Amino acid sequence: MCHVHNYLNDFFCLQCHREICSHCLFMATSPHQSHDTVRLKDYLASVLRKSKDFSQMCAVVQRKYERRPSGKVREAVRAKEQALCKLVDKHVDRAVARLREVQQRVKREFSAMLYSNVQQVEGCQDSMLRKAKRGKELCLHLGRAADKAKVRDIVEAAKAIEVAYTELDQ
Ligand SMILES: [Zn+2]
Ligand SMILES: [Zn+2]
Repeated sequence: MCHVHNYLNDFFCLQCHREICSHCLFMATSPHQSHDTVRLKDYLASVLRKSKDFSQMCAVVQRKYERRPSGKVREAVRAKEQALCKLVDKHVDRAVARLREVQQRVKREFSAMLYSNVQQVEGCQDSMLRKAKRGKELCLHLGRAADKAKVRDIVEAAKAIEVAYTELDQ
């Protein structure tokens, strides 16, 4: 209601931002004559429409930020981190496996070399022991031949001892 004209406020002055009655608007002395005015119901409808649009916009923004993209980002980073860790593990595992292989091979080769040396040394020892044993037997044989004064046996044994001596003396 217009307090001045006691009449229904049917219009809205866009410049004065207030509702006015038709008398306020159409009187010759009215300042609203030169102002932009609309029907009050049109103004209210447009305000409601704008309010509705804005509310929808707010809802869209709210949904967008409620989806917590930071959570998604964190998930993506975590996934990437896990993938990277797996990759590093794979490479390190492979490198370690390769080192293990080299380690085993070097050990095997060293062992083989050492054992072949041992076998050579042992073989040599055995042969020398055999020769020494045979030399002692020849000496005993010569001693027995000497006891029995068997000259031919003594000479033969002496020759054999000579040969055995040169073998041992190498
Ligand atoms: Zn009025
Ligand atoms: Zn006005």
